Amino acid sequence: MPAVTVQQPLSLPVVHVDEVTPAHYRGVARVVEAIKTFEGEGFPVRRPFPGVERAAVDPFILLDQMGEVQYAPGEARGAPDHPHRGFETVTYMIDGEFVHRDSTGGGGVIANGDTQWMTAGAGIVHSEMPPERLVRSGGLFHGVQLWVNLPAATKWARPRYQDIAARSVALLRSKDGGALVRVIAGDLAGHAGPGMTYTPITYAHATLLPGARLDVPWRADFNALVYALGGSGSVGADAIPLRSGQLAILGAGDALRVEGAVGQDSRTPTFDVLLLGGRPIGEPVVQYGPFVMNTREEIVQAIADYQAGRMGRIPATHAGAGPR
Ligand code: FE
Repeated sequence: MPAVTVQQPLSLPVVHVDEVTPAHYRGVARVVEAIKTFEGEGFPVRRPFPGVERAAVDPFILLDQMGEVQYAPGEARGAPDHPHRGFETVTYMIDGEFVHRDSTGGGGVIANGDTQWMTAGAGIVHSEMPPERLVRSGGLFHGVQLWVNLPAATKWARPRYQDIAARSVALLRSKDGGALVRVIAGDLAGHAGPGMTYTPITYAHATLLPGARLDVPWRADFNALVYALGGSGSVGADAIPLRSGQLAILGAGDALRVEGAVGQDSRTPTFDVLLLGGRPIGEPVVQYGPFVMNTREEIVQAIADYQAGRMGRIPATHAGAGPR
């Protein structure tokens, strides 16, 4: 699992929980198993949210662990042109590549450790495809797509695309030096990641060596979720076990604790987790596929707008398609 790795982790800033004023570590309210399904043209995803009531994960709408999969030649799949409205997608590639194109003219290659931010807002059409090269030769593919809801006031924001290079994430380490934390979005203990969503969130990827402990302060007004991408360990004040493909929903408090199990299997030598939280929006959510709105009428309108081409289309840029 490469994402961003560090040669000398001990040189990184330390994230820790202040011991002067005793912190209240959040406990685990429940653990949910991700379902395995397919997305787009048929790439495998693990999806933990269907088993959770929306309020517990608000402002997040969807969390997809894409892969991890080793494609054989000709096997790689993506998601061709499709619309979105009413939220933001955050795509974080851990291994492999996705080529993104959208109707605002935005686009680029998202590779190992990069993050791509797309504010669908009022409406966008985009495609997320493996590069030709990966289709031809096969290869490893592993990433995460997160959908962050927009409150009614910003659902109609202008669509926007941001490319965030792997090297721009904020890197931190645990006090014991055994955990590396990459802050992808929002803020963790005063260290800001490069991505800023309309809805305040904190989004980090931590890699814990066997036996390592990671303590981080966590905003009390945010909810808190820990999703295990790989390996095993424990979470929360009561050290509840968590393994690959499971999501922990935490209760109230102002700090999080995650520990790597001492014995990891040889395929996944580290415990890799996503730390996720945000300020709940608290508005009604009506979702229909790629549209996330507040009312049913707005969904009907979104479908009509898409069908009438009002969310735009992806301009043709391949050679021979005309003047550039
Ligand atoms: Fe999409």
